[in-house]
Amino acid sequence: MYKATLIPGDGIGPEVISAATSVIEAAGVDIKWDEKQVGQAAMAKYNNPLPEDTINSIEINRIALKGPTTTEIGKGFRSANISLRQRLNLYANIRPIKTIEGAKTKYKGVDLVIFRENTEDLYMGIEHMIGKDAAESIKIITREASERIASMAFSYAVKEKRKKVTCAHKANIMKLSDGLFLSSVRSVAGKFPDIQYEEVIADGLFMNMVMNPQDYDVLVLPNLYGDLLSEMSAGLVGGLGVVPGVNIGVEAAVFEPTHGTALDIAGQGIANPTAAILCGVMLLRHLGEKAAAERIYNSVSRVIKDGKHVTRDLGGTVSTLDMTKAIIDNLSDR
Ligand code: NAD
Repeated sequence: MYKATLIPGDGIGPEVISAATSVIEAAGVDIKWDEKQVGQAAMAKYNNPLPEDTINSIEINRIALKGPTTTEIGKGFRSANISLRQRLNLYANIRPIKTIEGAKTKYKGVDLVIFRENTEDLYMGIEHMIGKDAAESIKIITREASERIASMAFSYAVKEKRKKVTCAHKANIMKLSDGLFLSSVRSVAGKFPDIQYEEVIADGLFMNMVMNPQDYDVLVLPNLYGDLLSEMSAGLVGGLGVVPGVNIGVEAAVFEPTHGTALDIAGQGIANPTAAILCGVMLLRHLGEKAAAERIYNSVSRVIKDGKHVTRDLGGTVSTLDMTKAIIDNLSDR
Protein backbone atom coordinates (compact mmCIF):
# COMPACT_ATOMS: atom_id res chain seq x y z
CA MET A 1 0.00 0.00 0.00
CA TYR A 2 1.17 3.52 -0.85
CA LYS A 3 0.65 6.65 1.22
CA ALA A 4 -0.07 10.07 -0.26
CA THR A 5 -1.45 13.43 0.79
CA LEU A 6 -4.85 14.36 -0.61
CA ILE A 7 -5.85 18.03 -0.93
CA PRO A 8 -9.41 18.28 -2.29
CA GLY A 9 -9.09 22.07 -2.68
CA ASP A 10 -11.83 24.63 -3.30
CA GLY A 11 -14.67 25.11 -5.80
CA ILE A 12 -14.86 22.09 -8.13
CA GLY A 13 -11.71 20.66 -6.48
CA PRO A 14 -13.45 18.16 -4.17
CA GLU A 15 -15.74 16.97 -7.01
CA VAL A 16 -12.94 16.20 -9.47
CA ILE A 17 -10.41 14.95 -6.91
CA SER A 18 -12.85 12.37 -5.54
CA ALA A 19 -13.43 11.25 -9.16
CA ALA A 20 -9.67 10.69 -9.48
CA THR A 21 -9.33 8.72 -6.24
CA SER A 22 -12.29 6.49 -7.09
CA VAL A 23 -10.82 5.67 -10.52
CA ILE A 24 -7.42 4.87 -8.96
CA GLU A 25 -9.14 2.59 -6.46
CA ALA A 26 -11.16 0.89 -9.21
CA ALA A 27 -7.91 0.29 -11.13
CA GLY A 28 -6.72 -1.75 -8.14
CA VAL A 29 -4.00 0.50 -6.72
CA ASP A 30 -4.19 0.77 -2.95
CA ILE A 31 -3.31 4.27 -1.74
CA LYS A 32 -3.90 5.43 1.82
CA TRP A 33 -4.80 9.10 1.48
CA ASP A 34 -3.96 11.59 4.21
CA GLU A 35 -6.52 14.35 3.63
CA LYS A 36 -5.31 17.93 4.25
CA GLN A 37 -6.38 21.46 3.37
CA VAL A 38 -4.96 24.35 1.37
CA GLY A 39 -6.71 27.57 0.30
CA GLN A 40 -10.16 28.59 1.48
CA ALA A 41 -10.85 25.26 3.14
CA ALA A 42 -7.67 25.78 5.19
CA MET A 43 -8.59 29.40 5.96
CA ALA A 44 -11.90 28.22 7.38
CA LYS A 45 -10.21 25.65 9.62
CA TYR A 46 -6.82 27.21 10.51
CA ASN A 47 -7.12 30.86 9.44
CA ASN A 48 -4.08 30.12 7.28
CA PRO A 49 -4.28 29.16 3.57
CA LEU A 50 -1.20 26.93 3.87
CA PRO A 51 -1.11 25.23 7.28
CA GLU A 52 2.12 23.61 8.54
CA ASP A 53 0.13 20.42 9.02
CA THR A 54 -0.38 20.18 5.25
CA ILE A 55 3.30 20.89 4.49
CA ASN A 56 4.37 18.25 7.03
CA SER A 57 2.09 15.64 5.49
CA ILE A 58 3.53 16.22 1.99
CA GLU A 59 7.09 16.20 3.35
CA ILE A 60 6.44 12.79 4.91
CA ASN A 61 4.50 11.21 2.03
CA ARG A 62 6.50 12.95 -0.76
CA ILE A 63 3.48 12.63 -3.04
CA ALA A 64 0.23 14.60 -3.11
CA LEU A 65 -2.86 14.84 -5.29
CA LYS A 66 -4.20 18.38 -5.09
CA GLY A 67 -7.33 20.11 -6.35
CA PRO A 68 -7.32 23.78 -7.33
CA THR A 69 -7.41 26.31 -4.51
CA THR A 70 -8.68 29.87 -4.40
CA THR A 71 -6.22 32.73 -4.52
CA GLU A 72 -7.62 36.05 -3.35
CA ILE A 73 -6.61 38.68 -5.88
CA GLY A 74 -4.72 41.73 -4.67
CA LYS A 75 -5.04 41.30 -0.90
CA GLY A 76 -4.02 39.43 2.23
CA PHE A 77 -1.92 36.26 2.14
CA ARG A 78 0.36 35.38 -0.74
CA SER A 79 -0.89 32.71 -3.13
CA ALA A 80 -0.91 29.43 -1.21
CA ASN A 81 0.06 27.65 -4.44
CA ILE A 82 3.18 29.73 -4.92
CA SER A 83 4.11 29.43 -1.23
CA LEU A 84 3.63 25.64 -1.41
CA ARG A 85 5.95 25.39 -4.42
CA GLN A 86 8.58 27.51 -2.72
CA ARG A 87 8.33 25.78 0.68
CA LEU A 88 8.73 22.31 -0.82
CA ASN A 89 11.13 23.49 -3.52
CA LEU A 90 8.89 22.09 -6.25
CA TYR A 91 11.07 23.69 -8.85
CA ALA A 92 9.47 22.27 -11.98
CA ASN A 93 5.93 22.46 -13.26
CA ILE A 94 5.38 19.84 -15.93
CA ARG A 95 2.34 19.78 -18.19
CA PRO A 96 1.82 17.19 -20.89
CA ILE A 97 -0.35 18.61 -23.66
CA LYS A 98 -1.64 15.75 -25.76
CA THR A 99 -4.56 15.49 -28.17
CA ILE A 100 -7.27 13.18 -26.88
CA GLU A 101 -9.22 11.90 -29.84
CA GLY A 102 -12.83 13.03 -29.53
CA ALA A 103 -12.10 16.13 -27.43
CA LYS A 104 -13.42 19.27 -29.16
CA THR A 105 -10.37 20.97 -30.70
CA LYS A 106 -9.09 22.62 -33.85
CA TYR A 107 -5.87 20.61 -33.83
CA LYS A 108 -4.84 17.00 -34.36
CA GLY A 109 -1.69 15.23 -33.29
CA VAL A 110 -0.48 17.62 -30.59
CA ASP A 111 1.91 15.87 -28.22
CA LEU A 112 4.20 18.17 -26.29
CA VAL A 113 5.43 18.58 -22.72
CA ILE A 114 6.03 21.94 -21.07
CA PHE A 115 8.69 22.33 -18.35
CA ARG A 116 8.09 25.61 -16.52
CA GLU A 117 10.58 26.90 -13.94
CA ASN A 118 8.51 27.20 -10.81
CA THR A 119 10.40 29.08 -8.10
CA GLU A 120 11.65 32.42 -9.36
CA ASP A 121 11.18 35.04 -12.09
CA LEU A 122 8.45 37.64 -11.38
CA TYR A 123 6.59 35.03 -9.30
CA MET A 124 8.85 35.54 -6.28
CA GLY A 125 6.42 38.29 -5.34
CA ILE A 126 9.13 40.87 -4.67
CA GLU A 127 7.26 44.07 -5.40
CA HIS A 128 6.71 47.44 -3.82
CA MET A 129 5.22 50.83 -4.43
CA ILE A 130 7.47 53.74 -5.36
CA GLY A 131 5.47 56.61 -4.00
CA LYS A 132 1.73 56.48 -4.67
CA ASP A 133 1.70 56.17 -8.42
CA ALA A 134 4.34 53.66 -9.43
CA ALA A 135 4.90 50.00 -8.61
CA GLU A 136 7.97 47.85 -9.11
CA SER A 137 8.15 44.05 -9.44
CA ILE A 138 11.57 42.43 -9.37
CA LYS A 139 12.41 39.58 -11.72
CA ILE A 140 14.98 37.13 -10.36
CA ILE A 141 16.65 34.56 -12.59
CA THR A 142 19.53 32.41 -11.32
CA ARG A 143 21.89 30.07 -13.12
CA GLU A 144 21.20 27.31 -10.59
CA ALA A 145 17.41 27.32 -11.04
CA SER A 146 17.68 27.69 -14.83
CA GLU A 147 20.15 24.81 -15.16
CA ARG A 148 18.14 22.45 -12.98
CA ILE A 149 14.88 22.96 -14.94
CA ALA A 150 16.84 22.53 -18.17
CA SER A 151 18.48 19.33 -16.85
CA MET A 152 15.08 17.97 -15.94
CA ALA A 153 13.67 18.75 -19.40
CA PHE A 154 16.62 17.18 -21.25
CA SER A 155 16.72 14.12 -18.98
CA TYR A 156 12.99 13.65 -19.56
CA ALA A 157 13.54 13.94 -23.34
CA VAL A 158 16.17 11.17 -23.21
CA LYS A 159 14.10 8.91 -20.95
CA GLU A 160 10.89 9.30 -22.95
CA LYS A 161 12.67 9.09 -26.33
CA ARG A 162 11.66 12.60 -27.31
CA LYS A 163 13.58 14.30 -30.13
CA LYS A 164 13.73 18.01 -29.47
CA VAL A 165 13.88 20.57 -26.65
CA THR A 166 12.81 24.17 -27.36
CA CYS A 167 13.86 26.99 -25.03
CA ALA A 168 11.70 30.15 -25.06
CA HIS A 169 12.97 33.52 -23.82
CA LYS A 170 12.94 37.29 -24.33
CA ALA A 171 16.69 37.72 -24.10
CA ASN A 172 16.43 40.23 -26.94
CA ILE A 173 14.78 42.62 -24.43
CA MET A 174 15.81 41.36 -20.96
CA LYS A 175 19.41 40.78 -21.86
CA LEU A 176 20.60 40.02 -18.34
CA SER A 177 17.75 38.01 -16.76
CA ASP A 178 16.45 36.13 -19.80
CA GLY A 179 19.98 36.17 -21.19
CA LEU A 180 21.11 34.19 -18.14
CA PHE A 181 18.20 31.74 -18.50
CA LEU A 182 19.10 31.23 -22.15
CA SER A 183 22.83 30.73 -21.59
CA SER A 184 22.11 28.32 -18.70
CA VAL A 185 19.76 26.18 -20.82
CA ARG A 186 22.25 26.29 -23.70
CA SER A 187 25.04 25.01 -21.47
CA VAL A 188 22.88 22.07 -20.36
CA ALA A 189 21.88 21.39 -23.99
CA GLY A 190 25.57 20.90 -24.79
CA LYS A 191 25.59 17.82 -22.55
CA PHE A 192 22.80 16.17 -24.56
CA PRO A 193 24.13 16.00 -28.12
CA ASP A 194 21.52 13.42 -29.17
CA ILE A 195 18.61 15.75 -28.45
CA GLN A 196 17.91 18.45 -31.02
CA TYR A 197 17.93 21.88 -29.35
CA GLU A 198 16.30 25.12 -30.54
CA GLU A 199 15.87 28.61 -29.09
CA VAL A 200 12.86 30.80 -29.83
CA ILE A 201 11.74 34.25 -28.74
CA ALA A 202 8.64 33.77 -26.60
CA ASP A 203 6.25 35.90 -28.67
CA GLY A 204 7.23 34.02 -31.83
CA LEU A 205 6.66 30.76 -30.01
CA PHE A 206 3.13 31.78 -29.04
CA MET A 207 2.32 32.70 -32.63
CA ASN A 208 3.68 29.49 -34.09
CA MET A 209 2.10 27.43 -31.32
CA VAL A 210 -1.40 28.42 -32.48
CA MET A 211 -0.48 27.79 -36.11
CA ASN A 212 1.66 24.64 -35.89
CA PRO A 213 1.60 23.09 -32.42
CA GLN A 214 2.78 19.81 -33.92
CA ASP A 215 6.22 21.46 -34.40
CA TYR A 216 6.95 21.18 -30.67
CA ASP A 217 8.09 18.32 -28.51
CA VAL A 218 9.60 19.30 -25.11
CA LEU A 219 9.64 22.99 -24.10
CA VAL A 220 11.53 24.72 -21.30
CA LEU A 221 10.57 28.20 -20.12
CA PRO A 222 11.04 30.60 -17.22
CA ASN A 223 8.10 30.88 -14.80
CA LEU A 224 5.94 33.65 -16.31
CA TYR A 225 6.11 32.59 -19.97
CA GLY A 226 5.68 28.97 -18.85
CA ASP A 227 2.51 29.84 -16.97
CA LEU A 228 1.02 31.63 -19.97
CA LEU A 229 2.07 28.96 -22.46
CA SER A 230 0.72 26.05 -20.41
CA GLU A 231 -2.69 27.66 -20.06
CA MET A 232 -2.83 28.59 -23.73
CA SER A 233 -1.69 25.14 -24.79
CA ALA A 234 -4.54 23.54 -22.84
CA GLY A 235 -6.77 25.24 -25.43
CA LEU A 236 -5.04 23.28 -28.20
CA VAL A 237 -6.24 19.93 -26.88
CA GLY A 238 -9.75 20.55 -25.54
CA GLY A 239 -9.44 23.08 -22.74
CA LEU A 240 -8.63 23.28 -19.07
CA GLY A 241 -10.83 20.32 -18.21
CA VAL A 242 -8.49 17.79 -19.83
CA VAL A 243 -4.94 18.88 -18.94
CA PRO A 244 -3.12 17.45 -15.92
CA GLY A 245 0.11 18.64 -14.36
CA VAL A 246 2.64 18.18 -11.60
CA ASN A 247 4.77 20.46 -9.46
CA ILE A 248 7.87 18.47 -8.69
CA GLY A 249 11.23 18.81 -6.97
CA VAL A 250 13.75 16.48 -5.38
CA GLU A 251 11.77 15.93 -2.19
CA ALA A 252 8.14 15.82 -3.34
CA ALA A 253 5.68 15.75 -6.23
CA VAL A 254 2.30 17.49 -6.08
CA PHE A 255 -0.03 16.45 -8.91
CA GLU A 256 -2.75 18.98 -9.77
CA PRO A 257 -4.95 19.86 -12.74
CA THR A 258 -4.23 22.97 -14.79
CA HIS A 259 -7.69 24.40 -14.18
CA GLY A 260 -8.77 26.59 -11.29
CA THR A 261 -11.67 26.34 -8.88
CA ALA A 262 -14.28 27.15 -11.60
CA LEU A 263 -16.66 28.84 -9.17
CA ASP A 264 -19.18 29.37 -11.99
CA ILE A 265 -19.91 25.63 -12.05
CA ALA A 266 -18.81 24.55 -8.54
CA GLY A 267 -21.26 22.42 -6.58
CA GLN A 268 -23.34 21.59 -9.67
CA GLY A 269 -21.74 18.21 -10.33
CA ILE A 270 -20.95 19.07 -13.95
CA ALA A 271 -17.16 19.66 -13.85
CA ASN A 272 -15.05 17.60 -16.21
CA PRO A 273 -13.05 15.13 -14.08
CA THR A 274 -10.56 14.30 -16.88
CA ALA A 275 -7.73 16.63 -15.80
CA ALA A 276 -7.87 15.33 -12.21
CA ILE A 277 -8.07 11.71 -13.37
CA LEU A 278 -5.09 12.23 -15.70
CA CYS A 279 -3.22 13.70 -12.69
CA GLY A 280 -3.92 10.34 -11.10
CA VAL A 281 -2.40 8.68 -14.20
CA MET A 282 0.75 10.81 -13.82
CA LEU A 283 0.88 9.97 -10.11
CA LEU A 284 0.63 6.24 -10.82
CA ARG A 285 3.41 6.44 -13.43
CA HIS A 286 5.51 8.27 -10.84
CA LEU A 287 4.89 5.39 -8.41
CA GLY A 288 5.88 2.89 -11.09
CA GLU A 289 2.29 1.58 -11.43
CA LYS A 290 2.52 1.72 -15.22
CA ALA A 291 -0.07 -0.95 -16.06
CA ALA A 292 -2.81 0.69 -13.96
CA ALA A 293 -1.84 4.11 -15.35
CA GLU A 294 -2.18 2.88 -18.95
CA ARG A 295 -5.53 1.21 -18.23
CA ILE A 296 -6.92 4.45 -16.83
CA TYR A 297 -5.47 6.55 -19.66
CA ASN A 298 -6.93 4.20 -22.29
CA SER A 299 -10.30 4.19 -20.56
CA VAL A 300 -10.41 8.02 -20.45
CA SER A 301 -9.50 8.10 -24.17
CA ARG A 302 -12.22 5.59 -25.04
CA VAL A 303 -14.91 7.44 -23.08
CA ILE A 304 -14.00 10.78 -24.66
CA LYS A 305 -13.74 9.31 -28.16
CA ASP A 306 -17.09 7.58 -27.73
CA GLY A 307 -18.59 10.94 -26.69
CA LYS A 308 -21.71 9.52 -25.00
CA HIS A 309 -20.66 9.94 -21.37
CA VAL A 310 -18.83 13.26 -21.36
CA THR A 311 -19.45 16.54 -19.54
CA ARG A 312 -20.78 19.74 -21.11
CA ASP A 313 -17.39 21.29 -21.84
CA LEU A 314 -16.68 18.27 -24.07
CA GLY A 315 -20.00 18.62 -25.86
CA GLY A 316 -21.91 16.10 -23.75
CA THR A 317 -24.64 16.32 -21.13
CA VAL A 318 -23.64 13.97 -18.31
CA SER A 319 -22.54 14.74 -14.77
CA THR A 320 -19.07 14.43 -13.24
CA LEU A 321 -20.20 11.26 -11.48
CA ASP A 322 -21.61 9.67 -14.65
CA MET A 323 -18.47 10.40 -16.66
CA THR A 324 -16.36 8.96 -13.83
CA LYS A 325 -18.56 5.86 -13.71
CA ALA A 326 -18.18 5.40 -17.49
CA ILE A 327 -14.37 5.60 -17.09
CA ILE A 328 -14.47 3.01 -14.29
CA ASP A 329 -16.77 0.74 -16.34
CA ASN A 330 -14.34 0.94 -19.27
CA LEU A 331 -11.25 0.04 -17.26
CA SER A 332 -11.33 -3.64 -18.01
CA ASP A 333 -11.60 -3.25 -21.81
CA ARG A 334 -8.31 -3.53 -23.65
P1 NAD B 1 -10.81 28.37 -13.89
O1 NAD B 1 -9.93 27.31 -14.47
O2 NAD B 1 -11.33 28.13 -12.53
O3 NAD B 1 -12.08 28.60 -14.84
C1 NAD B 1 -11.98 29.09 -16.19
C2 NAD B 1 -13.18 28.55 -17.01
O4 NAD B 1 -12.95 27.16 -17.31
C3 NAD B 1 -14.50 28.62 -16.27
O5 NAD B 1 -15.53 28.93 -17.19
C4 NAD B 1 -14.70 27.22 -15.75
O6 NAD B 1 -16.05 26.83 -15.59
C5 NAD B 1 -14.02 26.38 -16.82
N1 NAD B 1 -13.46 25.14 -16.25
C6 NAD B 1 -12.33 25.04 -15.50
N2 NAD B 1 -12.14 23.76 -15.11
C7 NAD B 1 -13.16 23.05 -15.63
C8 NAD B 1 -13.53 21.68 -15.58
N3 NAD B 1 -12.79 20.77 -14.92
N4 NAD B 1 -14.66 21.29 -16.20
C9 NAD B 1 -15.41 22.18 -16.88
N5 NAD B 1 -15.13 23.49 -16.99
C10 NAD B 1 -14.01 23.93 -16.36
O7 NAD B 1 -9.98 29.73 -13.94
P2 NAD B 1 -10.22 31.13 -13.22
O8 NAD B 1 -11.66 31.46 -13.28
O9 NAD B 1 -9.21 32.02 -13.83
O10 NAD B 1 -9.79 30.90 -11.70
C11 NAD B 1 -10.70 30.70 -10.63
C12 NAD B 1 -9.94 30.54 -9.32
O11 NAD B 1 -9.08 29.40 -9.37
C13 NAD B 1 -9.05 31.73 -8.93
O12 NAD B 1 -9.18 31.94 -7.54
C14 NAD B 1 -7.65 31.23 -9.25
O13 NAD B 1 -6.67 31.84 -8.44
C15 NAD B 1 -7.78 29.77 -8.92
N6 NAD B 1 -6.77 28.92 -9.62
C16 NAD B 1 -6.17 27.99 -8.87
C17 NAD B 1 -5.25 27.14 -9.47
C18 NAD B 1 -4.58 26.10 -8.61
O14 NAD B 1 -4.94 25.95 -7.46
N7 NAD B 1 -3.61 25.39 -9.12
C19 NAD B 1 -4.97 27.25 -10.84
C20 NAD B 1 -5.65 28.22 -11.58
C21 NAD B 1 -6.56 29.07 -10.97
